[in-house]
Amino acid sequence: MVILDGKKVSNEILENLKKDFASLNKKVSLAVIWVGNDEASSIYIKSKLKKCEELGIEGKLYHLDENTKEEEVLALIDKLNHDDYIKGILLQSPLPKEIDEIKCFNFINPQKDVDGFSNVSVGNLALGRPTLISCTPKGIIRLLKYYNIPLEGKSVCLINRSNIVGKPLFNLLISENATVTMCHSKTQNLEFFTRNADIVISAVGKPNFIKGDMLKEGSIVIDVGISRVNGKVVGDVDYESVSPKALYLTPVPGGVGPMTVAMLLENLYEASKNQDKF
Ligand code: NAP
Repeated sequence: MVILDGKKVSNEILENLKKDFASLNKKVSLAVIWVGNDEASSIYIKSKLKKCEELGIEGKLYHLDENTKEEEVLALIDKLNHDDYIKGILLQSPLPKEIDEIKCFNFINPQKDVDGFSNVSVGNLALGRPTLISCTPKGIIRLLKYYNIPLEGKSVCLINRSNIVGKPLFNLLISENATVTMCHSKTQNLEFFTRNADIVISAVGKPNFIKGDMLKEGSIVIDVGISRVNGKVVGDVDYESVSPKALYLTPVPGGVGPMTVAMLLENLYEASKNQDKF
């Protein structure tokens, strides 16, 4: 079984991006908007800002109180949309439930939408048009390509239908000519789909959800899930039973997670270049 080493691959991507950003010869800023005090968000934001610093990019955190009103978030996005130094805007999810998250994402100028969550970015991706692509799905495809794992003609069982993982990943996989079955909590007989798949991508968020007996021999398993068990970060995969069955497997941590951060910075670089054209 081969471990798909997202940490190593992302480090290579980031090394190259550092040179790319330096060659722009100008200040690039990423604005990160965080509303509230969600603990997991704080960890993700710290790691994104740290990577910005390592790449010589300014990461500007706008930390708003959990009682912030939707209009205030929209006003901040509007200000950042018009700030020429800000090349990317990242609105950290989840937002407090009183705020319409989709409305806020959609208010971000698509040119600065480094998470690829605006209607324009999502629509372009669905139509196969060039766009900023959401980071986790993009990172998964990049990792598979790095290891020369073919997608064309392969059957993929994708367990997730969320806007940030499942739907964009579905679009990317079909544009790579894979045959995709999208499963979710209402899917009946999930094992039927996982056992018939060449590639299983699990983004459920339940520890030990994927067991070896759900897979066919030699399958490729991408573990997107993140859960915390006794303070330890774990994925969806039961490593003990899956590792003898799988040909390739992503670890958690060190698989899809670091690829996501690398793709965010790659999107920021693309966004900076595109904005310079105007
Ligand atoms: P989400 O919206 O809660 O999606 C979970 C998906 O799992 C849903 O589609 C849900 O189905 C499905 N599901 C739940 N129980 C199931 C079951 N018993 N059988 C089959 N499907 C089931 O969460 P998300 O935001 O997409 O994130 C998913 C996981 O990925 C989380 O653990 C998150 O932390 C992780 N994640 C990791 C990264 C990374 O960079 N590594 C990035 C993003 C997310 P329904 O649609 O029917 O509810």
